[in-house]
Amino acid sequence: MKRIRLTFEKSGGRCLCGAWVGYAVLATAPLFGQINGGTLGFYAPSSAANPAPVSLAAQCPYTVNNVPYLPTGCSVSINVAPVSQTNGHLHEGGAFHPFSKLSSAASGSSTSADGSQTSGVTDATGNFYFTLTPTLVGQTETITAVNAFGSEQYSYNVGYNDLVFGQFASWTLIGATDSLTSVNTGHGGNANNHWMTTQTYYDLTSTTQAWTQARGNCMICVNDSALPWGGKFDIESASRWMKPHVSHDRGSAVDIATGVATAGCPYPVDGDKFLSLCKANGFNQTSSIYEKTKNHDHCNSLNPATYAYY
Ligand SMILES: [Zn+2]
Ligand SMILES: [Zn+2]
Repeated sequence: MKRIRLTFEKSGGRCLCGAWVGYAVLATAPLFGQINGGTLGFYAPSSAANPAPVSLAAQCPYTVNNVPYLPTGCSVSINVAPVSQTNGHLHEGGAFHPFSKLSSAASGSSTSADGSQTSGVTDATGNFYFTLTPTLVGQTETITAVNAFGSEQYSYNVGYNDLVFGQFASWTLIGATDSLTSVNTGHGGNANNHWMTTQTYYDLTSTTQAWTQARGNCMICVNDSALPWGGKFDIESASRWMKPHVSHDRGSAVDIATGVATAGCPYPVDGDKFLSLCKANGFNQTSSIYEKTKNHDHCNSLNPATYAYY
């Protein structure tokens, strides 16, 4: 069991007479411990088809005569909340800002209807075990544990920490708010919408080089890939926190502008020809498609069934 010890908030040396075993007890706030799954601090997004639940535990560390122990039967309450303006989501709005859900299978535990809170008592090993099921929205969240003596909070990120910024000499980055021809999606400039997996970066540079050889024009217009930590890329205010961009949630997909030249994209590619080069240079055969009505090739290195998306 890997435990991450966080800051303690001691009770200031108060003598809690009669508590537990009758000794003077220095009580501390609950202590989180990572039980299994993932790396504390970054949790992969979840969907119904691809859930990525994380098992955690809270404890109530005590010290009696300098001997630390974890008491049984200590009541603990856990809360989760999203942090606004993180991972490029420079917007609020919509009826509901998603957050990761709490639950617990511990005896006597209870969980709020919206999953923002779960509570129970520490078991015979001194742990209150609970589960955090991440949301699909990449963002920072806070988790707080509260017991009778205080509280303890830390923040973590929902998302992927393996995405790189898509920058290449012959790529013109388009599609974000700082483009004069684009609508405001609420995600800032082109620095936020071009994050991708290293495999997708490799596949797209390979495709670009093949395009240069075949067509003699090295420039392409690279539209949305993913937000810095991936997760739901919600570009329409009417469907805030949700669709479209259904398969962009892992950072494995990227849109290349097609059609006729515009002020926003002086270098559109031939959709059919560029798509065939995508497929010949590493992108997935079935999940890479020419979305003609949207004026782009959607090239995806992965099959979306392999990752969390909706
Ligand atoms: Zn957003
Ligand atoms: Zn796309």
